[in-house]
Amino acid sequence: ESIITAQNVEKWYDNNFHVLRGVDLQVNKQEVVVIMGPSGSGKSTFIRTFNALEPYQKGQIVIDGTKLSNDLKNIETIRREVGMVFQQFNLFPHLTVLQNVTLAPIWVRKWSKNKAEEVAMQLLEKVGILEQASKFPGQLSGGQQQRVAIARALAMQPKIMLFDEPTSALDPEMVREVLDTMRNLAESGMTMVCVTHEVGFAREVADRVVFMDEGTIVEIATPEDFFNNP
Ligand code: ADP
Ligand code: ADP
Repeated sequence: ESIITAQNVEKWYDNNFHVLRGVDLQVNKQEVVVIMGPSGSGKSTFIRTFNALEPYQKGQIVIDGTKLSNDLKNIETIRREVGMVFQQFNLFPHLTVLQNVTLAPIWVRKWSKNKAEEVAMQLLEKVGILEQASKFPGQLSGGQQQRVAIARALAMQPKIMLFDEPTSALDPEMVREVLDTMRNLAESGMTMVCVTHEVGFAREVADRVVFMDEGTIVEIATPEDFFNNP
């Protein structure tokens, strides 16, 4: 059953640079899709359209039955259902780890502080950061900060998680812990769309691999077919 349907999505800039040239993709519930392809091919732009971070000129995107229009009519519903993790962790530096994770649940979902903290502590434990709950982001390693960012997105209880090169800004020794966290999330049944160059992750975790080039999808295949057939 499809939870993301993108049909013929096109986007261009004022200078006529055509970053998305009619992209079609359906993602099923609980599916893990990895998007690969050269830099500048539109991968990041494409997944950012899924939560209205990126407007587009043509085509249609439906997220769990909600149509995403450029007038941002359904934006609150969409943003609640679609969590996102970025290359740069984008944590609030002046808030503790715990406060980073509870902020949106308290202010957007109107949860009590107690409920938000209870859920946050569970998530921090899941991503292996519980001991750091009262520290500030600057006191954590990059890998720890990215796991906080994952916990923060999960605190909104999204139905879909988007990852935009989540390990690209990390020192090599920290990549593993973030990928392990993503793998656990995939195994828990989360629907995930991940832009990443991590071939091992794609091979082992992806249900399908999508290859983009110059604003179009040029291949969609299982990891077996994608990596084994030249
Ligand atoms: P990827 O994620 O595959 O690296 P992106 O989605 O980031 O690709 O691609 C963005 C492309 O769009 C880049 O080539 C970038 O230079 C171009 N781009 C981004 N913003 C603008 C803009 N305001 N005007 C023109 N081109 C832009
Ligand atoms: P990143 O590679 O960090 O994702 P982006 O490609 O998204 O960066 O671009 C970062 C910023 O630069 C955006 O605000 C984008 O609009 C602008 N930008 C990128 N490429 C161009 C371009 N070719 N012309 C004009 N603005 C651009």
